[in-house]
Amino acid sequence: MTIDVSLDTVPHWIGGAAMSSAAGPRAKIHDPATGRVIGTVVLGGADAVDDAVMSARTAAAAWGGTPSPARASVLHRFRALLHEQLDDLAWIITAEQGKTLADARGELARAIEAIDVSLSVVQQLKGEYAEQVANGVDTYSFRQPLGVCAGITPFNFPVMVPVSMFAAAIACGNAFVLKPSEQVPSAAVRLAQIATDAGLPNGVLNVVHGGVEAAEALIDHPDVAAVSFVGSTPVARAIYRRSADAGKKVQALGGAKNHMVVLPDADLDAAADALVSAAYGAAGQRCMAVTVAVAVGAAADALVPKIAERANAFKVGPGAALGTDMGPLISATALDRVRSALQRSVEQGGRLVVDGRKLTPPGAGYFIGPSLVDGVRVESDLYRDEVFGPVLSVLRTEDLEQALQIVNDNPYGNGAIIFTGSGAAARRFSREVSAGSVGINVPIPVPISWFGFGGWGDSRFGDDGLNYDAYRFYTRSKVITQRWTDPTPGPSPHFVAAGSQ
Ligand code: NAD
Repeated sequence: MTIDVSLDTVPHWIGGAAMSSAAGPRAKIHDPATGRVIGTVVLGGADAVDDAVMSARTAAAAWGGTPSPARASVLHRFRALLHEQLDDLAWIITAEQGKTLADARGELARAIEAIDVSLSVVQQLKGEYAEQVANGVDTYSFRQPLGVCAGITPFNFPVMVPVSMFAAAIACGNAFVLKPSEQVPSAAVRLAQIATDAGLPNGVLNVVHGGVEAAEALIDHPDVAAVSFVGSTPVARAIYRRSADAGKKVQALGGAKNHMVVLPDADLDAAADALVSAAYGAAGQRCMAVTVAVAVGAAADALVPKIAERANAFKVGPGAALGTDMGPLISATALDRVRSALQRSVEQGGRLVVDGRKLTPPGAGYFIGPSLVDGVRVESDLYRDEVFGPVLSVLRTEDLEQALQIVNDNPYGNGAIIFTGSGAAARRFSREVSAGSVGINVPIPVPISWFGFGGWGDSRFGDDGLNYDAYRFYTRSKVITQRWTDPTPGPSPHFVAAGSQ
């Protein structure tokens, strides 16, 4: 099977058209399943960012004044065209990111769900109305767009994360400049092209490629009002600081260390199934991947062999091949990182029950098999670092109390799950655990997009999250107090209670 990535050099998308200069820096794009270079991408700096922001600023003025149902109609057409191109987009995701085609389709389904939610924001903008708050006085509020918003996105969801940002921002009446990950740039340009075909006015959605330089130029640009970021925690923290220093609205979603607590009264086969799906699916490269199983009491001895059996049966191969459960990692650097994390885990006392390094690689790509490390200690590097690969650590505890303590002492707070047959234990866990998304007897608790999404602690800097919460981030509220009376009251020098006027 061959994959047609169609664009040899992936261009920026500015003002409704592809833009790339003949000169200027480029980065190579690799197919993670073969290690081969399959294209290049232009790397923008301050000039490309300025072009994109200027284009967005011009477009924002008209788009913000376009009636909200008309804006929603464009997004409806965008959704329909996206639907027609799902297969193409799935291939593009798999070619550059490496995940299986089934997983790529799952990502696309989530992106479409995010568009559906953005279509409902129209009703969120309508505000509130209080009549007769003083004699002849009414007060009401509504929400207005911010102008130009920027998004900086990670490699692991080349479609879902960008769409969840820009669909909401655009539905709210903003223009958007997206800087996708330079490792997976093609999908973003295809999305912008589809949006233009759907009738989105030129300049409302722009894509600028690049790395740190482009990201920083976007944050620093005086005409960018708000910055959305999804990526690793050190970068999220830096972006949060830089944006806040510049006085901008900022939401910065970071990395994770998601725990699944398994109590002895749980269905242990269901827990083991959930653990391998959540730990090894997408080669562990999901922010909601489970990386730590906290096995309570007698659950541990029964659970570990069940996980090992399933991990050993996982089929590792190219994401485009039929029957593959898990594709490669994104890069050679990621492969080195995971390999050395496993080596250190053994040196620090972990017991390697399944060693993914023993996999015979199904090609020259960045493959490693699933790994399972038992007896991991909270002081170890494997527990403290976000490995972002298919490695599951097992920690053993005596009771739920101790398990909760471990989860809550961890600085990350993206997701946490409990497997149990006890409603009381589940209820206690969901109330006391320190995490933004909580699962009970489910593998990955990413809520449907009609709820907000975002972690706690070091997993999110800033306030509003994505999806349902995004309309708050991409708008600001205005409150109007008006009087229409005849005759008007005379002057008063006093600051008085509303009702007495
Ligand atoms: P990354 O932080 O390396 O890069 C993310 C984006 O930031 C890219 O566009 C990159 O070009 C840019 N960037 C990198 N360094 C930068 C810097 N110093 N200044 C400004 N911009 C910079 O992340 P990644 O490797 O692409 O993605 C994996 C990470 O993303 C993992 O940590 C994962 O947990 C996290 N993630 C989190 C969520 C969530 O919802 N919390 C979702 C997906 C991924």
